[in-house]
Amino acid sequence: DEAVKSSQWLLPYEQALEKSYLRRLAIITELKNALVAEQAELSMVYQPKVFLSTLQICSMEALVRWNNKLLGFVPPDEFIAIAEQAGMIEQVTTWVMRKTINDLAMFRAAGHTFTIAMNLSSHDIQNRALLDKLADLLAAQGLEPTDLELEITESDLVADADLATENLRQLKAKGFRLAIDDFGTGYSSLAYLKHLPIDTIKIDKSFVLNLSNDVDDQQIVRTILHLASVFELKVVAEGVEDEAAFALLRDWHCDIAQGYFISKPLSIAALTEWLAVSPYSQNAEKL
Ligand code: C2E
Ligand code: MG
Ligand code: MG
Ligand code: MG
Repeated sequence: DEAVKSSQWLLPYEQALEKSYLRRLAIITELKNALVAEQAELSMVYQPKVFLSTLQICSMEALVRWNNKLLGFVPPDEFIAIAEQAGMIEQVTTWVMRKTINDLAMFRAAGHTFTIAMNLSSHDIQNRALLDKLADLLAAQGLEPTDLELEITESDLVADADLATENLRQLKAKGFRLAIDDFGTGYSSLAYLKHLPIDTIKIDKSFVLNLSNDVDDQQIVRTILHLASVFELKVVAEGVEDEAAFALLRDWHCDIAQGYFISKPLSIAALTEWLAVSPYSQNAEKL
């Protein structure tokens, strides 16, 4: 309160600094509460991915949502980054893992065979105890690591390529499927593709959102598709927002598409309704 009152004496850039500082502080405090709260502020939504060749649903990406009474909706990009810096990411990921694996068990009980993709932060893939917990949680529900795909952002892998390679090898050895997220934004040398034990690359949505109008994006996407075929990797295009992009990607033999054109991320209730009316068929073979 004192801090807020005194901010009228600050210069505009100092005010902006203080505002962002206060927001960070509020996010840290409120997130701590949310992680132990009785009433659920955190939730998961699921966004389908479909095979372009067969129009079958192949998997659902789990995305975390946070609605706070003071701050309103806080985007995951923002609070995940702050949780990492504040040493809280393990708690957030643990929450996400528990919820997602419970939901996966429920989907299986309802007869759905799709894989679930979970996002991990760079801190998570270095946290052996957390990864052991992940395996334990799956086993407790009678699920296999192959039921889960782990998405790791390219820039996180590039930051320490040797460490990342070792950690990913261990995950792969346990049977998890691995995907590089936001591919194309990590300014990598691409040499690491030779060594990383990954199954899939997800082309960053910045190259896909305007695909049908932007010739440069078309060249980039086709180049990535070629690269992936050389390394025998599956490719997901994220951010497919219109039929034109969907059709181009299909023509170019991109494996999998994800984006608002297919579906926005959905709550479990909304997803259940979507599955009942969706034109995409279910029970595809496993990835
Ligand atoms: P991401 O994993 O690359 O997820 C894709 C983001 O693009 C999601 O934003 C999704 O809602 C959005 N998106 C999907 N299709 C479209 C489309 O057609 N058009 C546009 N404009 N956007 C689309 P979201 O849910 O806000 O998540 C942002 C990022 O936050 C994620 O990027 C991921 O890096 C991170 N994140 C989300 N949930 C989790 C989580 O549970 N754990 C961790 N560690 N990170 C998470
Ligand atoms: Mg992702
Ligand atoms: Mg992405
Ligand atoms: Mg991302």
